[in-house]
Amino acid sequence: MYYIDPHIHMVSRTTDDYETLARMGCVAISEPAFWAGYDRGSADGFRDYFVQLTEVEPLRAAAYGIDHFTWLCINAKEAENVQLSRDVLKMIPEFLDCPNVLGIGEIGLNKNTPNESIIFQEHLELAIKYDQQILIHTPHLEDKYQGTRMILDMLADHSQLDRSRVLVDHVEEHTVREVIDAGYWAGMTLYPVTKCTPARAADIIETVGSERLCVNSAGDWGPSKPTAVPDLIFEMRKRGHREAKIKEVVFGNPRQFFSQSKNFKLADPENR
Ligand SMILES: [Zn+2]
Repeated sequence: MYYIDPHIHMVSRTTDDYETLARMGCVAISEPAFWAGYDRGSADGFRDYFVQLTEVEPLRAAAYGIDHFTWLCINAKEAENVQLSRDVLKMIPEFLDCPNVLGIGEIGLNKNTPNESIIFQEHLELAIKYDQQILIHTPHLEDKYQGTRMILDMLADHSQLDRSRVLVDHVEEHTVREVIDAGYWAGMTLYPVTKCTPARAADIIETVGSERLCVNSAGDWGPSKPTAVPDLIFEMRKRGHREAKIKEVVFGNPRQFFSQSKNFKLADPENR
């Protein structure tokens, strides 16, 4: 089955992974800017990273027939440094017209600190000013519920935001409903140790429905599985879900969400 992985960090993965994704049916991926596993020392470090995301990765992906899209920001962890963050924010508009950029992300919170909140809000203002879609990272484990609440409160302060152009990612059982009910898109991350497993994600789909819900692998430099989306396909098949419904979750939904960005163009995989 064709699918899209709407959140995966391919800068951390090998070309073997690209090949495996292609063999599994992946036709497009979107790669949000994230914490690379170490703090960058300067805004120029981010400039180089944005060049990698907008010029290098699209070529690596294209070699395997995969369309590569990306999102730009300074991640929540490094946002603790307000001055560095503002230098990076100033630079982002230079890259917004690159043909594979879908919007601002993954912004959000890490430890739910005041500095992270300040920079989150400044990213929201940037996205509104440049009419960009937004992709949001919610914190890990014990910080998730409170962080998600803080994020939803900050989003609600911006009445001019079109909620259907915002995706709140890494939702779990205790946060998914508030996100969906408020009119946002939600993303479930299939991780081997934390976040969701394919079985839990299938439970959530059976409980809250599949409208405005996406699934991703968030494959990165840590323990993660880039082929986690096909694992959900198999899990849903095992449970007897119809192929059309599975396709909606792994292909139709991310395509619908991304299509709100002027830079998203995806050839019909059946007619390439
Ligand atoms: Zn991520």
